[in-house]
Amino acid sequence: MRFDVLTLFPDMIENYCSLSIMKRARENNIIDVSTINPRDFSLDKHKKVDDTPYGGGAGMVLMAQPYVDAYESIIKYENSLTVMLTPQGKTFDEQMCVDFAKYEQIILICGHYEGFDERIRDIIKPYEVSIGDFVLTGGELPALCLIDSVSRKLDGTLGKLLSAEEDSFSNGLLEYPQYTKPREYRGYKVPEVLLNGNHSEIEKYRREESLKRTKERRSDLLE
Ligand code: SAM
Repeated sequence: MRFDVLTLFPDMIENYCSLSIMKRARENNIIDVSTINPRDFSLDKHKKVDDTPYGGGAGMVLMAQPYVDAYESIIKYENSLTVMLTPQGKTFDEQMCVDFAKYEQIILICGHYEGFDERIRDIIKPYEVSIGDFVLTGGELPALCLIDSVSRKLDGTLGKLLSAEEDSFSNGLLEYPQYTKPREYRGYKVPEVLLNGNHSEIEKYRREESLKRTKERRSDLLE
């Protein structure tokens, strides 16, 4: 899976993707992450990428030319999806993540300042994705949420030690409580059932806890 990220702040993407599981996934050629900076495509002599909004108002709007030219410079795979990160998009969720993992390439367009000149949308016609009903300074954190969660769905990213199968949402429920050593900490004990080695009892306990937790915290998922 290849991710091409259009961003004015490539270091944010590069730094995150050079650590931990993302780093390993890149080293093992499961994912490939590249950045393209629209500033490098600006025709302005000062490499300007934003300007004041027509009609007045606060802040700066991202100009169409550097974004469209940067986008058009990317080699597109046949099975490719273009995503614009914007609070005005469809809210990202588990199903979208599973669907996105079927592509061979995802191109991510990150905004900044007051957002995009509308003609970027008109010309590129991206699929618009929000990570929630709140507004961030830029699209880099949303792009990283998408890269990280989609990468977890790809074979080999998590390796043998980790599994996404029992993660919250993957079976429609929140995950059961987890414990590790020691058996007792500040008077809180690990539930006995997890210590007895009886796998069917452990499975039953985990299923019940998962249902209980989902009912308490996210009854909407059960509906
Ligand atoms: N003025 C824009 C609006 O009201 O829709 C918001 C611009 S926001 C300050 C700057 C950039 O951050 C956006 O262009 C987008 O790329 C990104 N962004 C902010 N919040 C986001 C969210 N909830 N989901 C996805 N991207 C977001």
